[in-house]
Amino acid sequence: MKEIEPIIKQFLFDGTYRESIAYGAGHINDTYRLTFQKGKETNRYILQKMNPGIAEDMDLLMDNIERVTKHIKGKNRQQTPMLIPTKASKNYYRTKTGECYRAFVFIEHAKSYDEAQSEHHMRECGRILGMFEKDLMDFTFDPKYVEMTKNFHDTRYRYEKLMQAVETDAFGRVKEAVDEIRFFIQRQELYGQLLTLVERERIPVRATHNDLRINNILIDSREQKGAALIDLDTVMPGLAAYDYGDAIRSAAKRVYYKDGKIESVEFLPHLAAAFTKGYLEEAREILTKEEIETLPLGIRTMSLELGMRYLTDYLNGDVYFKKNKDGKNLENARREIAFTKQVEQYQKELEQMVVRDQTSK
Ligand code: ATP
Ligand code: MG
Repeated sequence: MKEIEPIIKQFLFDGTYRESIAYGAGHINDTYRLTFQKGKETNRYILQKMNPGIAEDMDLLMDNIERVTKHIKGKNRQQTPMLIPTKASKNYYRTKTGECYRAFVFIEHAKSYDEAQSEHHMRECGRILGMFEKDLMDFTFDPKYVEMTKNFHDTRYRYEKLMQAVETDAFGRVKEAVDEIRFFIQRQELYGQLLTLVERERIPVRATHNDLRINNILIDSREQKGAALIDLDTVMPGLAAYDYGDAIRSAAKRVYYKDGKIESVEFLPHLAAAFTKGYLEEAREILTKEEIETLPLGIRTMSLELGMRYLTDYLNGDVYFKKNKDGKNLENARREIAFTKQVEQYQKELEQMVVRDQTSK
């Protein structure tokens, strides 16, 4: 990894540099794991080349990550990826050509999984999310950062964007997606429900992760316990229902393929239940009753929102999700639709699940 050696020299790593390897399967950033030796000690770090698309203002984003991780570390209850400063005392390094790099302490014995491994795994993921939201309960964001990130999860806005793409039909693809478009139109009254509750001050806005796929939760491989929540680029004011919903959307399902195409999607309520249990074990004390009742709606909202983003991108010619060409965006939108339909059938059960868990302890 010769090409990153000049970058490595810019950070205050502890010890003598030994090696670097490409690490993880990140879709957004390029990640490396670095090894340093200090006497008998081996120190490891994560170095990431950041995708410039992740923020309008990198200083604001990195200051937010630094503040969030320090806050969590101060609570001393869970691990968190602490930043390594540069030799110029900055929290990231910008090259002369404008590429940005940052470095974290490597969390040892920790592994992330793309898919749910077991009920135990889901429960641990839920616990880590609950602990994270609890630790950040008294966190205050920089108002400039809040301004930069507003409307991140605005489902109504996502729907408007879809309707604009339908109207424009720039690639003549509307005819391929009539049923899918209809599906999202039929559910339009759902998109504002959570936001309306916020506007009426019925549920609070709190510090949330906002990209809660379970591969952003590290599990300690020695005792199979939740270790840390990583990928903190989107920590911002949000709703508990978003993180809860996204975690279940991303993990409590099985997708069946036939000839490389999605054939069906199965929602797995036992995994959703395990996640709910772990999450509420930690977070119940900070969530309001009404907030807990909104959690199941979060699952559908996140799946619908993501489905609309895929479909919009398909109609706009695959410009945002660049890898999703050749119909992949449409295929992904269909997966979210199939998942939403399944979840709709379980709505009652999910509502009972969160209420039951609320009173069972
Ligand atoms: P994605 O888009 O897939 O979420 P990303 O490009 O945003 O990925 P990260 O999720 O931050 O990148 O990191 C990629 C992988 O590197 C993680 O899945 C995890 O396995 C590993 N990783 C990142 N940070 C750490 C850390 N501090 N300690 C241990 N492992 C880490
Ligand atoms: Mg990640």
